[in-house]
Amino acid sequence: MCALQGTNKKEERPRRRATLYDNVSQQFGQAADLMELDPDIRRILAKTANEIVVHFPVKMDDGRVEMFTGYRVQHNNVLGPFKGGLRYHPSVEIDEVRALATWMTWKSALTDIPLGGAKGGIQIDPLKYSPREIEHITRRFTFALGDNIGPEYDIPAPDVNTNAQIMAWILDTYLSMMPAHERNRSTHVVTGKPVESGGSVGREKATGQGVVYIIERWAKDHGFLLNRATYTVQGFGNVGSWAARLLKPHGAKLIAAEDVGGALFNENGIDPDDLANYVKKQGNVGGYPHAKAIAHETFMSTKADIFIPAALENQINAETAPWLNVKLVAEGANGPTDPEGDAILRRKGIELIPDILCNAGGVIVSYFEWLQNKRSESWELEEVDSRLHKKIIQAYEKVRSTAKAYETDWRTAAYIVALTRLATVYKERGIFP
Ligand code: NAD
Repeated sequence: MCALQGTNKKEERPRRRATLYDNVSQQFGQAADLMELDPDIRRILAKTANEIVVHFPVKMDDGRVEMFTGYRVQHNNVLGPFKGGLRYHPSVEIDEVRALATWMTWKSALTDIPLGGAKGGIQIDPLKYSPREIEHITRRFTFALGDNIGPEYDIPAPDVNTNAQIMAWILDTYLSMMPAHERNRSTHVVTGKPVESGGSVGREKATGQGVVYIIERWAKDHGFLLNRATYTVQGFGNVGSWAARLLKPHGAKLIAAEDVGGALFNENGIDPDDLANYVKKQGNVGGYPHAKAIAHETFMSTKADIFIPAALENQINAETAPWLNVKLVAEGANGPTDPEGDAILRRKGIELIPDILCNAGGVIVSYFEWLQNKRSESWELEEVDSRLHKKIIQAYEKVRSTAKAYETDWRTAAYIVALTRLATVYKERGIFP
């Protein structure tokens, strides 16, 4: 269990580098102070419900046995089953997973879906393992989690370095551990599955699609012409590449992109579909022939209308925020801007659409997948997209009016919308016993 620290804490603590969880705590405290959140509710939401750490052995291709550490943090399930992605990355550790789980609670509450918040992952560099080893690690992790996940209890999904194939292995392992007669009604134990294995059409692109719906709406509100806009994207994986590819039909021009392989620039525009095909073959953007390689600082300083961070956390911070030369930051990643970065962007007059709103398309369509599995239905792409559009724009409008009512920034406003919903439910239900 871990407590969020509100900004109104007075005691002196020794200086240390802020962790990701400190950032969530600061954001939470700021909104709770401004909306005068009931202190009882504040205490409840300041704790994660469960924190599961598993250590498990896996036999490698060469016969050696390696030990792995996996995490699942379940923050809150008052609105519905715990829900959130699984990340495979060397940086995965308890503080990071705690922060990501907490953001999921706010995201589900903000977008008005009947799900709670969780996150998990394994501390590994997936590039060091063969596909067969990744399969075995995934299956053994699922086995180690056991009853801590379940279709009506806690539902994982893809995140950084995980995908539909990994969800299919989790599904298969989970179902193999169930009595035969329960298997067919348990396929909603994970979302983001391949369509043939019970996934939803439109789920793979859903987060990027949501980012684009939000940018479109922001542009409309500001009388801003997307067909003349330039933009940059950090992270060209699921979220970043789909956001870029889906912005293409609007006529917006991608002029710079960055991922683990380096950064690229082309003032005449980079074709997102061509770059996505290149990344599929080569693994990252490094060496892409139709743009020139640039340094990280040059990438972050690129003058453009929109910047979409879609990689990892804390990319916009005290050092890098001063470099930004854009009108809008649309957060595709979770936690890409730390509180110092936020303050600098506000001072510079750069608008920001916060992660829990901007990247909520993924969890919204995961909810649709979960519903389709429960009802044995499969919806058409137009239905998925139009329902996603409706949900994410409703959340956008709530955040916009809340920001106005409280005269605050959009991140704090998004928190206020989410916390208001959670507080209402706690008040209605009361506390057992
Ligand atoms: P992904 O693994 O598909 O892609 C991650 C990208 O980030 C890759 O292009 C990688 O090269 C790049 N990257 C990693 N480290 C980097 C660094 N130091 N500098 C620059 N680029 C770097 O992951 P994803 O699913 O696209 O997730 C990206 C972000 O979006 C994460 O913050 C994730 O939590 C968030 N998110 C994902 C979803 C989803 O549905 N997949 C939903 C909501 C939020």
